[in-house]
Amino acid sequence: MSARGGWLAVVGTGPGDPAWMTPETAAILAEATDLVGYKPYLDRVASAGQTYHASDNREEMDRAGLALDLAAEGRRVAVVSGGDPGVFAMAAAVWEALEIAPHARWGSVTVTVAPGVSAMQAVAARAGAPLGNDFCAISLSDNLKPWPVILKRLRLAAEADFAMAFYNPISRARPWQLGEALALLREWRAAETPVVIGTAVGRADEEVTLTTLAEADPTMADMRSLVIVGASTTRLLRRPNGQAIVYTPRFYREGGE
Ligand code: SAH
Repeated sequence: MSARGGWLAVVGTGPGDPAWMTPETAAILAEATDLVGYKPYLDRVASAGQTYHASDNREEMDRAGLALDLAAEGRRVAVVSGGDPGVFAMAAAVWEALEIAPHARWGSVTVTVAPGVSAMQAVAARAGAPLGNDFCAISLSDNLKPWPVILKRLRLAAEADFAMAFYNPISRARPWQLGEALALLREWRAAETPVVIGTAVGRADEEVTLTTLAEADPTMADMRSLVIVGASTTRLLRRPNGQAIVYTPRFYREGGE
């Protein structure tokens, strides 16, 4: 805690279902005097008597600076992300503000990060266990990193036979990236490789689609989707009761055999 009692905690609400918010995060939110974040996330955790600082999703560094200023003034500040705050979210932006453009007044502010359930875990749980063996997570957004870097990571991850979780697969401003990523993976993986598309998982409009690399189509996803592409060992299991799931076995058998 800083001398004047202010603090900054970076928290994540989980991907949607309130039951996926950790008790630690709920306790921090209840203690906070000020909530800082993208408006839809703040709306999810609204409670009376707190000051809201809603902002656009693109102004991460400004938001981090505002949160640090409030904490330096002695406020108890929660910076709120969706999912886990350390996965493609605000925790890194807060540390970046502290490293790149630090103000002397921020020096004594205590900053903590609380872990949360990330979207890939929620989608994987709905689908079965597609991330049951080695996997990687890649954001397909080229807003903050160049597209050639993303392509290189996709190619090397494909070669290394990781299952992959794609965050930010598509949006109105980025309509073609998912299609290109799938096209690249088709050069490396079999047509029947399982693909899971989980959209708004844990919310009222949740949709989970199990498909294959050959049939996966960017129109099946939107900005609320997380896409998982299986490794060579990932399997589709149809149970006698009708349940269909996708899982990646713990045992690694090259080529899936
Ligand atoms: N910090 C978040 C990720 C933020 S990036 C986390 O740990 O989950 C935003 C991306 O997360 C979205 O484009 C989507 O790919 C994914 N996402 C977030 N919530 C989701 C949900 N309920 N269902 C599916 N994907 C979700």
